[in-house]
Amino acid sequence: MNFDKLYQQIILDYASRKDLKREIEDPTHVERGHNPSCGDDISLVIRLKNEIIEDISFLGNACAISTASTAMLVELVKGKSISEAKNIVNTFFSMMKNEEVDEKDLELLNEAKILEITKNMPARIKCATLSWHNLKIILEK
Ligand code: ZN
Repeated sequence: MNFDKLYQQIILDYASRKDLKREIEDPTHVERGHNPSCGDDISLVIRLKNEIIEDISFLGNACAISTASTAMLVELVKGKSISEAKNIVNTFFSMMKNEEVDEKDLELLNEAKILEITKNMPARIKCATLSWHNLKIILEK
C-alpha cells in the first residue's frame, strides 16, 4: 500500500465517523464555516465549561477532506483546556504554513498530521483548514 492510498483511507474513515458528528447538549458556542469554492458548510458546536472543552461536535455538509479534518479536530480537542486546544490549533497552522514546528508539538496533532498533504493544493487547503479557523475564532472570544 502506498502512502497516498493510506492517507485516502484515513480520510475516508474519519469522514464517515458518526460518533463525532452529532448534536450536543447545552452548547455554549456555535461557529459556522462556509467555503464557497467547494461548498463546505460546517458548524462547530462546543460546550465550554471552566476553561475546558467539555463537549464538541460538528454539523453540516462538506467534502471528505473538510469532514475528515473537522472530525480529527473534534477528536483531538475534546476534553482539552482552552490553552491546550490553542496550542494544537496553532501547531496545525504552523505546519500548514511551512513554519518550523517542534517535533513534540507535531505529535499532538496525531492523525491530523496527514492534512499537511493539502498545504500545496490551493483548492484543498481551504477544505482542510475551515474548521480549525472556526475553533480559533471560538477560543479567542
Ligand atoms: Zn471541501
